[in-house]
Amino acid sequence: MNQVIGLQCVRCGRHYRVDEAAYTCPACGDQGILDVLYDYDGVRKRLSREGLARNPERTIWRYAPLLPVEEVRRASPLNVGWTPLYRASRLADSLGLPGLELWLKDDGRNPSASLKDRASAVALVRAREEGAEVIAAASTGNAASSLACLCASVGQRCVIFVPEQAPPAKVAQLLIFGARVFLVRGSYDQAFDLCMEACRTYGWYNRNTAVNPYLSEGKKTVILEVCEQLRWEAPDLVFVPVGDGCIIGGVGKGLRDLQALGWLERLPRLIGVQAEGSSVLARAWVRGTEEIVPVPPTTLADSISVAQPRDALKALRAVRDTGGEYVVVSDGEILEAMRLLGQTQGVFAEPAGATGLAGLVRMAREGRLRGDERVVVLVTGNGLKDVASALKAVPPAPAIEPTLEALRSRLP
Ligand SMILES: *Cc1c(COP(=O)(O)O)cnc(C)c1O
Ligand SMILES: [Zn+2]
Repeated sequence: MNQVIGLQCVRCGRHYRVDEAAYTCPACGDQGILDVLYDYDGVRKRLSREGLARNPERTIWRYAPLLPVEEVRRASPLNVGWTPLYRASRLADSLGLPGLELWLKDDGRNPSASLKDRASAVALVRAREEGAEVIAAASTGNAASSLACLCASVGQRCVIFVPEQAPPAKVAQLLIFGARVFLVRGSYDQAFDLCMEACRTYGWYNRNTAVNPYLSEGKKTVILEVCEQLRWEAPDLVFVPVGDGCIIGGVGKGLRDLQALGWLERLPRLIGVQAEGSSVLARAWVRGTEEIVPVPPTTLADSISVAQPRDALKALRAVRDTGGEYVVVSDGEILEAMRLLGQTQGVFAEPAGATGLAGLVRMAREGRLRGDERVVVLVTGNGLKDVASALKAVPPAPAIEPTLEALRSRLP
């Protein structure tokens, strides 16, 4: 890890050498999530905006000097990252904001169809550099299917814990990728705790969100790409769906990296969007505290359905440090955003994947946008992962007899 100079606990602020802490802060325990620190002068020698413009590597590994890996190396042949950033004019028009410069970052276009591949790709390299035989993860579904996918591509063994209620498509992905899968009779939070215990007991490499400090480093590549795709002219606002808070924490970290490198004139405001039924971080935000009060979740957006956000401090600080805010949306608004995204832009998102957009729609309706901002919405997961929810977002199609007459009686 050439450019990594150490780790810092987000809770107590203590510094560690990389070999002094495998996962969380030894002093704070599981709550002491670590942040990876870089020697930015060293990074600058290996990475420049001009060099990037010429780099044919169209994956997250184009940013290798800013990642916690030994060298430019991709363990897996699969292409993770460099997903499309679409200009979404039809969507902006339909919101009644034709002057909005709206962009969609479609991370459903990753190998396992969610943003989680960015984190899994880095975890896979770290695990291999440490000689791990088995990688384990607990997940609401996407982190697991992502890990299983990348592991399958290189023959790495992995063990997966998901709630028994995970959407069938995500479980199907796990099984097709040949992972060792345990369907936990309980919630995601219970699956998480079981996986933590299993990692300690069996010495498995732990890819659990937040606990492993290198996952945010993978996730930050999404904002590095967005800024590069916008020719280093940062957006005004970035909408991010939030469950455990690892994505938004990673986005915040990516922005800090770019600022430290002197590549951004100003930072976008990060808008964290949570589902009403899983809004622990938004509630803490409103109360102005970093104290987290777990609440059992009730939302159909399974990927952001958590009782206890595992990356709370990074998630709250990413929003605070960029002058952003948290927004809460209902499941109905999430379904509406899925429909809007599909019908105006041809992008199919799972419920959590459309939650960032639901937050934008909410702010637009409340008249809280000027209407000329440059806005990026992260679409974090593909709609085929949860077809049952998609069908709730739309009216059913009529079934008809195979005759022109039957068709005619249905047309206006
Ligand atoms: C995991 C996930 C999220 C939320 O990410 P956190 O790091 O848990 O906040 C959002 N959308 C999708 C599709 C996800 O898989
Ligand atoms: Zn600590």
